[in-house]
Amino acid sequence: GLDSSKYKARQQKNYLKDNENNIENNDDDDFNDELLLGEGSEAFKQCDPFVFPCVQCDTLNFWNAPFIFNEDKTCISPLLRCKNVNCSSQPIDHVVYLRNRLTLMINKAIRRYYQNWLRCDDDTCCAFRTRQTPLGILHKRHLCTSCSKSELITEYDDRQLNLQLRFLKQLFNIDAYKNSINRTKIEQVDAYFKTLSVDVTRSIHKNMTELQLHIDRIIQKSGYAEVCISNLFAQFYFNA
Ligand SMILES: [Zn+2]
Ligand SMILES: [Zn+2]
Ligand SMILES: [Zn+2]
Repeated sequence: GLDSSKYKARQQKNYLKDNENNIENNDDDDFNDELLLGEGSEAFKQCDPFVFPCVQCDTLNFWNAPFIFNEDKTCISPLLRCKNVNCSSQPIDHVVYLRNRLTLMINKAIRRYYQNWLRCDDDTCCAFRTRQTPLGILHKRHLCTSCSKSELITEYDDRQLNLQLRFLKQLFNIDAYKNSINRTKIEQVDAYFKTLSVDVTRSIHKNMTELQLHIDRIIQKSGYAEVCISNLFAQFYFNA
């Protein structure tokens, strides 16, 4: 279920941290500021990676972080290589394609949330699944109409969708990512950038930032952002 106390504590911590560092805080956009670090990266493990087939060799590329760490203590930007080691394609040369794949993925996640599938909490005795409940009665308790014993729970609720959207943004946020990893890995990232030309380094940062902005635009366009930041949902998080 939902652990609102942890969420509250994290909010408080982020708020204090932002004040300490005098970072300007944009309260209107909770996708930008709530980077779920620390225990959040644990939560991110339940999120879907950004997946796309390589335009050249069709190999599926999975992105879970802004850098891929190799066993030899080096790392690389996934923008510069295909998962297939024999393929020379660099995703950074196909940014429009990446943008389209992100659009598809995010719209699919938002659609899944609005479809509001409910399933029986007890999947050992009952595999009941329904989507006949309107969004309005989300978060209220419902007895399973099939077994009448367990509760119906939301398959993909707003908390999961928010987490997924933040995860995707974090995938393209180099600074936030560096704040969330240990010193050894930070040094690997810094060493990696030193091996790249100024132009390539600049291009990676520029494209990562643009992909973050693209995610914002899709979310805004979908209308989900307004639902998400409404008081109704804030209350759900903080007083549940
Ligand atoms: Zn490839
Ligand atoms: Zn049931
Ligand atoms: Zn939100």
